[in-house]
Amino acid sequence: MAVLVTGGAGYIGSATVEMLRAQKREVVILDNLVYGHREAVFPDTPFYEGNIGDAELVKRILGEHDIEACVHFAAYAYVGESVTKPAVYYQNNVVQGLRFLTTLTEAGMKRIVFSSTCATYGEPQRLPLDETHPQHPTSPYGASKLMFERIMQDFDTAYGLRFVALRYFNACGATPERGEDHDPETHLIPLVLWAAQGKRAHISVFGSDYDTPDGTCVRDYIHITDLASAHLAALDYLQNDGASTAINLGNGQGYSVLEVIETAREITGKHIEVKMEPRRAGDPSRLIADAKKAREVLGWQTRYPALKEIIGTAWAWHEAHPNGYESS
Ligand code: UDP
Repeated sequence: MAVLVTGGAGYIGSATVEMLRAQKREVVILDNLVYGHREAVFPDTPFYEGNIGDAELVKRILGEHDIEACVHFAAYAYVGESVTKPAVYYQNNVVQGLRFLTTLTEAGMKRIVFSSTCATYGEPQRLPLDETHPQHPTSPYGASKLMFERIMQDFDTAYGLRFVALRYFNACGATPERGEDHDPETHLIPLVLWAAQGKRAHISVFGSDYDTPDGTCVRDYIHITDLASAHLAALDYLQNDGASTAINLGNGQGYSVLEVIETAREITGKHIEVKMEPRRAGDPSRLIADAKKAREVLGWQTRYPALKEIIGTAWAWHEAHPNGYESS
């Protein structure tokens, strides 16, 4: 019995595949390589290059492998881009996603772990954010993920689909072999490390007048290895006939942009030039998870709660892969 991983060549997907394989689970990957990296895929893992909305291809995969469950990462995930290109985001994340889910359920495959996001909550009304917090996303990206959650709920009612929607906070860190290599890169930690490596002249800090202790935005940074282990636990939960549910994944601790930069200075020993810039549109001041449910329902425990360790693993990967996957 195999697990179908869509987006298995991407940042979090490939780290999850790595862990599934380490636990001797059979894996099949579907990825269109628009943002994923061929180099992130194990050469001996069955790999299909294509779109999730390609029903013929998905049927072929289901015919060629005994798929017991799916972990669905494949999506576009740039919050800012989604604001200027909503058609692209709804088309890919919702329309293609719906086609994919329809193909799976029609074939009788009824277990799915879905990459959702804290962006489905929008501006926090209270902190930390638990799963009952109202969901009013402020970007088409967040809205597209929320729509897919809703679609899965309705598929549960009508067709008996069982899902776990995992709502990630800020994914970061690396395993020795798999790290963050986005093009374009917009995320804080890799950009800070690029500045430490001299690939960027400075790191821009977007906003220093937020209502936070040092005026910069606070986020809950969660290591990809910890995200990966939650996906494995969610697969086990579904295997044991767990009911459909949504679960936050974060450390429950917030760090400001300046704290991230200071920690990166300590870890790298490098000078990192900082440039204060205006706020970036759509950034809430603080996002912190209440991850109690993940511990209670999935028995989830994080291995990398400390920011130092998280940034340390990312730095090791960036030093070993100065040009990302290209140089590996
Ligand atoms: N950020 C920043 N400079 C950058 C990139 C990000 O100051 O070059 C800030 C951003 O405004 C946010 C935090 O760092 O407050 C985390 O941003 P990221 O894009 O990594 O993740 P997000 O929280 O948007 O998912």
